[in-house]
Amino acid sequence: MPIAFDTNIQYMRGVGEARAKALQKLGITNVGELLYHFPRGYEFRGNVKELASAEPNETASFILTAATDVHNATLRRGMTISKLRAFDASGSAEITFFNQPYIKDTIVKGGEYRFFGKLTRERGKNILSSPTVESIIEGRELPPLVAVYPLTSGVNSKMLTKLVSTALSELSDNIPDILPETVRDENQLCSIGTALRFIHNPPDFKSLEIAKRRLVFEELYRFAYGAGEKRDKKQTAPKMSDTDITALTQALPYTLTGAQTRAISEISVDLASGVPMRRLVSGDVGSGKTVVAAAAAYIAVRNGFQCAIMAPTEILANQHYTELSGLLGRLNIKTTLLTGSVKGKARREILSELADGTVGVLIGTHALISDGVEFAKLGLVICDEQHRFGVGQREALLQKGGTDTCHQLTMSATPIPRTLAMFFWGDLNMSALNEMPPGRQRVQTFTVNESYRERLNGFILKQTAEGHQTYVVCPSVEEAELGEVTQEDIRLFDFGYDIEEIMRPKNTPKAATTWAQKLAEDLPELNIGCVHGKMKPADKEAVMSRFVSGELNVLVSTTVIEVGVNVPNATLMIVENAERFGLSQLHQLRGRVGRGSAKSYCILVSDTKEGSTARQRLEVMKSTYDGFKIAEFDLGERGPGDFFKNGDEIRQHGDLRFKIANLCEDMALLEAAVAAASAQRAKTTE
Ligand code: ADP
Ligand code: MG
Repeated sequence: MPIAFDTNIQYMRGVGEARAKALQKLGITNVGELLYHFPRGYEFRGNVKELASAEPNETASFILTAATDVHNATLRRGMTISKLRAFDASGSAEITFFNQPYIKDTIVKGGEYRFFGKLTRERGKNILSSPTVESIIEGRELPPLVAVYPLTSGVNSKMLTKLVSTALSELSDNIPDILPETVRDENQLCSIGTALRFIHNPPDFKSLEIAKRRLVFEELYRFAYGAGEKRDKKQTAPKMSDTDITALTQALPYTLTGAQTRAISEISVDLASGVPMRRLVSGDVGSGKTVVAAAAAYIAVRNGFQCAIMAPTEILANQHYTELSGLLGRLNIKTTLLTGSVKGKARREILSELADGTVGVLIGTHALISDGVEFAKLGLVICDEQHRFGVGQREALLQKGGTDTCHQLTMSATPIPRTLAMFFWGDLNMSALNEMPPGRQRVQTFTVNESYRERLNGFILKQTAEGHQTYVVCPSVEEAELGEVTQEDIRLFDFGYDIEEIMRPKNTPKAATTWAQKLAEDLPELNIGCVHGKMKPADKEAVMSRFVSGELNVLVSTTVIEVGVNVPNATLMIVENAERFGLSQLHQLRGRVGRGSAKSYCILVSDTKEGSTARQRLEVMKSTYDGFKIAEFDLGERGPGDFFKNGDEIRQHGDLRFKIANLCEDMALLEAAVAAASAQRAKTTE
């Protein structure tokens, strides 16, 4: 029976039950997965040397003729050693293998082979230890690049190479190509068959590049296409055509910015369209997203629908409630707060007012999606900081809308480059609040090194004496993490950062918990609290509310505070080991201060060398205050990880673990893939 892409791997020639089991450990269960199990690298065997001309200890290929058969000998503890002599025109070498007795069957006296390995010389003798061996067959050239695969016990490279080549030759042209021909033509991409042949068995570097480019594109395209797929179903949503918001704008103590006005009118158009709105409002902290949400909620309620606003934490839900209930109340819209701590009679009352339509706007945490929460007529769902929610949670809330699909508005305080937004959320629409309300003061930003430590502590005291509060942000949680080389370090290293500089002992990251203790010792007169991501949410919120209430002078934390809290009394943001953060993260952190009327400061502490790349990166923060610009800069430099949740979580997020696409390097390709995916989707849904 001919094999196909989805043929179970067990039924392939050369695979039985045992091998199939082993392959499964690599995620290979069918022929297609076998072909998409890409090499992790390539051995360059194109460097062919004659024995006499190789440098000592040079790794190279040698084309040699076996002068003897292979002799096996058994050593201690059952180890075997196999030996032969082989020669070329320039001389001869002794070749040894350990524990590969079967090599005896591979090499025959008089045969010609390519040996690839390190050549050593001892007392004038050439020695090759455990080289790889390939037979030279007349009329067939050996490829200069040889694939090296991710392996597991029971699966070796040779076996994979063999299986892949069998699969490719048996499939011949029956390889499904998910990229339509037009997309391939437009983007100058080779066919899938060619790509797979070249990636597993590249005849040269050029072919390898051609294959990689095609497969990277495909990977990005698949993701971008998938991200938008959910939206393609021809869904309808409530038409909300009564969109006069004059009453709302008149109730505001200020005039809307141009960006806010633009966003609101974009939302009005969406809401009136009859198609479910999927819009992201993205803008810096303080750019005024809340009033945009209020306007959307207002339109929904005026059209006879209810609106749910979901925030990731109780504190944030409370803040939204405080900000919105007054404004909406003045417009006769009943606004209610529902969180996990609302229980018993109070909860029952809210639920009944929700079910009979008395409540117009319900604000809360994920308690909004708990059982028993029934809306009379939900028409709009607003999620704040959407990246804190799982997709499942958002879907669950949307389901509460009943048969008609809800409109959805998401608010993100991360200015996110449009391409990236489209990549992750499909063809979602985006309103960028790229204009700050007037009269905002800039948070004065400095970069300092350890030598400023005492002055820095003095500054914390000064801010406290003036009645203000301080944030101190550290990159990691526990001491145990110190000094280890992390994936992140390796990534930085790949970007050309000086790994030694990053890893220098005195530069080990400050751990939030220990740093909080140290600060408490140095500044005993202050109330210092600490929060980090490994705390239970309830404990975390308890500390946060002590900071919000002003009881704590200093809050030491990891980046958990990155999202959302509003403490206008905080005027100082200190970031320890600032070089470890992405610029967008730093920008977010900086946005935590400067929210009140008092002058605010952001101090980036870093012991990176003056003039080093890492330091220069930080200097950007002193001159740039536009979150979107910083985001673009960051995306190019650090990739997309920083734009989601906290970077570490997203790095473990399956969606981002692309097999071959490195989003950092492939921005241009990413843009092309996003465009192609969205064009293609439009075609198929017409
Ligand atoms: P975000 O949620 O985007 O971080 P907010 O909506 O909380 O920002 O707004 C921050 C502050 O700016 C609030 O105190 C709000 O009242 C105020 N604000 C919003 N829009 C304007 C505006 N157009 N003019 C003046 N102040 C504004
Ligand atoms: Mg906000």
